[in-house]
Amino acid sequence: MSNIFRLRGFLASATRIVEQHPGDEAGTLAELTPHLADLVAHDDWLPAHYATHDQQCYLQHLLYGDPLERLSVVSFVWGPGQETPVHDHLVWGLVGVLRGAERATAYHHGANGTLVAGESRILKAGDVAAVSPHLGDIHTIANAYDDQPSISIHIYGGNIGRIRRSIYDPATGATKSFISGYSNATVPNLWVLGEKT
Ligand code: FE
Repeated sequence: MSNIFRLRGFLASATRIVEQHPGDEAGTLAELTPHLADLVAHDDWLPAHYATHDQQCYLQHLLYGDPLERLSVVSFVWGPGQETPVHDHLVWGLVGVLRGAERATAYHHGANGTLVAGESRILKAGDVAAVSPHLGDIHTIANAYDDQPSISIHIYGGNIGRIRRSIYDPATGATKSFISGYSNATVPNLWVLGEKT
């Protein structure tokens, strides 16, 4: 049984918070972080379909897209050893690990336009980390495990699947424009699944 009410409650809180803090990234992230931490502290709500992984590439399952595109919530599922390219977001984002563990590595601009990797941080189940153009927006995320999948729940300050952004070659600083889209064609039925307990 999927306790989807946890996701419904999170989405209600997140919508109220983005409504109350238009243009205030710091205030939004400060208020939203404990709600995402609470959501990923419980691993009993994500419908099984949105926890599936693929052998070829990590999946980005859209769970909810705000009709006004103020936020989107995505379940990222990494197969063993999978990782993102170096990329940016152009909007604020929070990553909360639901299952397994992930390795997040921030990048900053170095000499000659190259990108230099900063310290890697291991995010364990229950941990939450932020990205944004103000905090540092260029990073990679990888499954910390090479023998099991990991899942994290991401919330972004826009419709992340539709934002044109960049992938970077860290050795040269060369960028490639991309739009990530989403892996799934449908979103979960938030209003029927699960019983309130
Ligand atoms: Fe990212």
